[in-house]
Amino acid sequence: MNHIYIHEMMTSRVDSVDVATCLSDVVSKMCEKTRSCMVVTEQINGRGHPVGIITERDMVRLLAEHLREQEATDIHSISEYMSSPPICINQHAVLYEALVITQTRNIRHLPVIDDDENLVGILTQGDIARAHFRAIEKQRDIIEHQIKERTRELLEANEELKALSLQDSLLGIGNRRSMEVDVQFTHANAARYKRPYSIALLDVDCFKMYNDHYGHQAGDDALVQVTDAVKEVLRSSDRLYRYGGEELLLLLPETPVNDATYVVNRVLENLRVKNLPHCKSPHGRLTLSAGISSDCQGSKACWTDVVAEADEWLYSAKESGRDQLGYPAGPNVKLAIAKR
Ligand code: GH3
Ligand code: MG
Ligand code: MG
Repeated sequence: MNHIYIHEMMTSRVDSVDVATCLSDVVSKMCEKTRSCMVVTEQINGRGHPVGIITERDMVRLLAEHLREQEATDIHSISEYMSSPPICINQHAVLYEALVITQTRNIRHLPVIDDDENLVGILTQGDIARAHFRAIEKQRDIIEHQIKERTRELLEANEELKALSLQDSLLGIGNRRSMEVDVQFTHANAARYKRPYSIALLDVDCFKMYNDHYGHQAGDDALVQVTDAVKEVLRSSDRLYRYGGEELLLLLPETPVNDATYVVNRVLENLRVKNLPHCKSPHGRLTLSAGISSDCQGSKACWTDVVAEADEWLYSAKESGRDQLGYPAGPNVKLAIAKR
């Protein structure tokens, strides 16, 4: 926190009187310089040390004592002594106006009047200082509130940006970038902790013909419907990404090949049940072909090898008539399919 030190605020041209000065000289000096107080000093080593202070209050006390000693007949009317006319301030004026008047006129009390110039109050320097302090506090609260608001908006915008840069805007699933990060992490984790995981590539069959027949916008809608059908049967731990075009990548952490086969077959079956029309497909409906690859205990050097193998099996599924899973297993099964 920034402190404001007294030496930065004080007036250094200070009026003082020596402790030996007589009262009438002090009063004259206060009157002449229109000061509300005089500091009384004593000279030590050529410099004044404060030893007392004479204020307006002391003067009022002295005057009261003096007047008490006087004959009642000697008391004059106050109108002979008062400052007149008084500088007043309207009750509807603002703090800033009061500050300007008191500072420029060097006065400490402002009678407050209404629109008909009737006296309704008095404003002292203490009142002004308190009001000033309250205004500063209020300003600080407003600024703090604004900072909080801006910080919250910024965080929200950041989150949105983050989500946007990791999500495919059409399908509302992870995009290729987030897929690469997640699969890389899953692969490294599986290798380190000797855990299995599987990847499935899902490709919409005969989709070019769908676009050509129904139009590109209908193609977009169909892709959303297919994606929704896939998502419907996934487990919460499964992650779905748009691999590119009409191709999806399914990441199945902690899932060996048999379980992955089960999950992907369930996905294909769910789409069959939806029976989304595709009159140009030999199946008469939208279908998916899929290929799976699994990695256990980090047997494959890189996650891209796992994806490449899934792609091979996807190709097999296409070759075998689509709407199916290219069966992943050992090299014998792969060979058998290749020979078909
Ligand atoms: P296959 O069964 O062999 O996969 O045949 P295909 O027609 O699905 O494959 P191909 O690679 O020949 O064509 C894919 C089509 O998918 C072409 C492309 O315009 C379309 N496509 C890719 N992304 C989108 C998209 O976001 N929206 C729409 N409407 N079409 C898309
Ligand atoms: Mg396709
Ligand atoms: Mg494709």
